[in-house]
Amino acid sequence: MKKIVVIGAGLGGLTAGALLSKKGFQVTVLEQHNIVGGCATTFKRKGGFVCEVGLHEMDGLYTDKVKNEIFKELGVYENIEFVKPNEFFRVKTDTVDFIMPDNIQGAKISLKNKYPECEKSIDNYFSLIQTIYFKLEKLSNMKWDDIVFFPLKYYEIIQYKNKSVREVFDDIFKNEELKLILNANIGYYHDNADTLSFFLHALAQYSYFNGGGWFIKGGSKKLSDYLASVIRQNGGTVFTNADVIKIDVRSKSVRYVKKHEEQILEYDILISNISPMQTYAMANIEYENKKELGNSILSVYLGFSKNLKDVYGEGAYSSFFLKNIQNIDDYNQSTKRDIQDRGFVFVDYSQIDAGLTSQEKSFGVMCTTDYLSDWDNLDTKQYLQKKEQILHAFVAELELHYPNIKEYIEFAEAATAKTMQRYLKTPNATAYGFAPTVKQFFKIPKSKSKKLSNLYFVGQWVLGGGFSPAINSAKLCCDTLLKDIKKA
Ligand SMILES: Cc1cc2nc3c(=O)[nH]c(=O)nc-3n(C[C@H](O)[C@H](O)[C@H](O)COP(=O)(O)OP(=O)(O)OC[C@H]3O[C@@H](n4cnc5c(N)ncnc54)[C@H](O)[C@@H]3O)c2cc1C
Repeated sequence: MKKIVVIGAGLGGLTAGALLSKKGFQVTVLEQHNIVGGCATTFKRKGGFVCEVGLHEMDGLYTDKVKNEIFKELGVYENIEFVKPNEFFRVKTDTVDFIMPDNIQGAKISLKNKYPECEKSIDNYFSLIQTIYFKLEKLSNMKWDDIVFFPLKYYEIIQYKNKSVREVFDDIFKNEELKLILNANIGYYHDNADTLSFFLHALAQYSYFNGGGWFIKGGSKKLSDYLASVIRQNGGTVFTNADVIKIDVRSKSVRYVKKHEEQILEYDILISNISPMQTYAMANIEYENKKELGNSILSVYLGFSKNLKDVYGEGAYSSFFLKNIQNIDDYNQSTKRDIQDRGFVFVDYSQIDAGLTSQEKSFGVMCTTDYLSDWDNLDTKQYLQKKEQILHAFVAELELHYPNIKEYIEFAEAATAKTMQRYLKTPNATAYGFAPTVKQFFKIPKSKSKKLSNLYFVGQWVLGGGFSPAINSAKLCCDTLLKDIKKA
């Protein structure tokens, strides 16, 4: 059976490795970090805290056909416990405090109650994102009549493919506050509604409205570890602390460093879970990246000595606090402000049975848009000082919404774009691959290399950032690869 080497043990690499090892391929995954998972992981802190690095909400569980198929095939539903928050998100600005339900009916009712004059546009919006979602889903599986009658059957695809969120929202809505509310969680995808592809917005938001957002009980590392265990159970190998440094195309082998020693591993097929830029550089193949890269994220991890739900009562799991932001223009400007003055999301894991701490304690995280350039030209001391200062500013901001919360903080730690670059090694310290802009998002996904016949890609660089696209990219990669093998 063919030898497959996977570079990187993020969700894309692990899912592809698990699927292919189950099909009998000899899979070896090489991960530079000392644990698997990439963004999908946790870390521990004194006091019994398991800290979730990345996952706030995963969309598409049970409702996304591709993910459902993958999870069923790999036994994920039987082995991993998922927990669902009560709502999609809460958004609080200086003038609005709104809970967005995680289902279409509920969302429509709440929005219409708040904005009765916008009833028709609210209906139009939900109908449009639903249409776009299902038509985009069908694109990968078109029948002959879909192709012949494409302009008729898929006219929304043609009509909206070059539109930004801003353009479509301006067409549908007159109310600026409503536009902001429907876009409050844009930080999950991008930093600017003027350039964000409406297709990405429709696909992702509809998926959350259709099936809700989910957390993995015990943290996302459970899923990553489980996927690695499937690879091992099927005769594959997962090496951590294995930093791939070179791809030798002629001898079909990769060089990696493990315990300061260079090792060589031969492959028949190579799957890369890292960016094309890094992959081609390792193979000495020219590749000029002309695409804009996604932004990074700043996180403030907080361990609480008390269960926040016991202190503040039942509330939202995921709250977007948008200070000095009244509309989409303000939001776009806000990501250019100093980090502590940007809007942020606070995820209060005490609101669900997250399984991250004991019952008496709880864990939370604050996140905002971050850029590597925010941390340019600082020596170590200045970097640490700035990080500390931002951490305090964030906690002070949280106190405005959760009075005296500082009293319950047992540990607080900030992770910046630099931290992400250190642990993930992604260009631009992004967790979202290429920026999902109008210009870039709606392109045929590149799971197969055009430059090397036995090289495939998975992860955030194929379909986009997020748990679902990273996982689903593995199915695309496997289907393409199996087709190629059959043809050969
Ligand atoms: C703070 C944060 C919050 C997020 N919140 C959400 C959310 O709520 N919902 C959601 O859907 N998504 C969320 N995401 C995004 C999501 O986690 C990522 O898009 C997704 O997990 C990326 O998966 P990937 O397969 O591209 O792998 P990555 O996570 O990018 O992993 C790639 C792996 O490759 C390894 N690697 C790199 N270079 C080498 C090398 N030379 N040799 C060997 N290994 C190497 C890295 O160490 C890493 O483990 C969040 C991300 C972050 C950071």
